[in-house]
Amino acid sequence: MTELIDTHCHIQSIALETHDQAEHSTRELWAKADALTPDGVVQAAIDSGVTKMICVGCDMPDSRLAVDFVQNRPACWASIGIHPHEADSYVNQVDKLADFSNLLSGSKIVAIGECGLDYFYNHSDKLAQQTILKFQIELALKHDLPMIFHVRDAFDDFWQIYDSYQAVRGVVHSYTDNLANLQKALDRKLLIGVNGIVTFAKDLGQLDVYRSVPLDSLVLETDSPFLTPTPYRGTINEPKRVVNIADFVADLRGEDLEKLSAVTTSNARNLFGI
Ligand SMILES: [Zn+2]
Repeated sequence: MTELIDTHCHIQSIALETHDQAEHSTRELWAKADALTPDGVVQAAIDSGVTKMICVGCDMPDSRLAVDFVQNRPACWASIGIHPHEADSYVNQVDKLADFSNLLSGSKIVAIGECGLDYFYNHSDKLAQQTILKFQIELALKHDLPMIFHVRDAFDDFWQIYDSYQAVRGVVHSYTDNLANLQKALDRKLLIGVNGIVTFAKDLGQLDVYRSVPLDSLVLETDSPFLTPTPYRGTINEPKRVVNIADFVADLRGEDLEKLSAVTTSNARNLFGI
């Protein structure tokens, strides 16, 4: 069977002590499945054919955790990022931003993100989100790293910022927007990350968007522990579920599963160099 890659998961918080859980919403979810261990989850993924996974950080402690998590795990790589939800606590915080940048001295870091703009929740001020996004784009360019973008209800501002730089490369993770923004992403050679949302999307237009992504621009992800694909809704999502997402997407697009697996895996390898 062709190998698969989970290009976006948050498994680094599985083993966090529960007293730390207040800061980490992902830890609260993992705690609901306390039989899961970090190495058990990684091994279950590998046994299912998901042989590589990228552990994505959402703030400074979470990113540090991701970097630590991947060090002795050959199947795992890290991405460090400040999520738009967290932008308020980092804007104008010179020391915190310097600490964040210093994480790049670690090894196995293959991307910057998740970062971007989220005007759906607006957990942080819009201007703060924009400032923190620009900071991370500049960091990625300086270190020649690809980026993992989270953009929700904010593409107009996102394109304006994106287009003010040159040679930014990356993936728009958990893509749920329309065909027009899909085209803008493709014009900019960005990859499109598709996860379990595709398996429970009811909107026919939305399914059309997933059919329209050229195979050469598609990568698969779980966003584990969130967004469990059907028929496993109600359980914690794990990287091994990329297999179910691949299956569903191949079916939806009328593509051969082997081909879809091989091409999405090679897309991910090319972007992240893994
Ligand atoms: Zn995520």
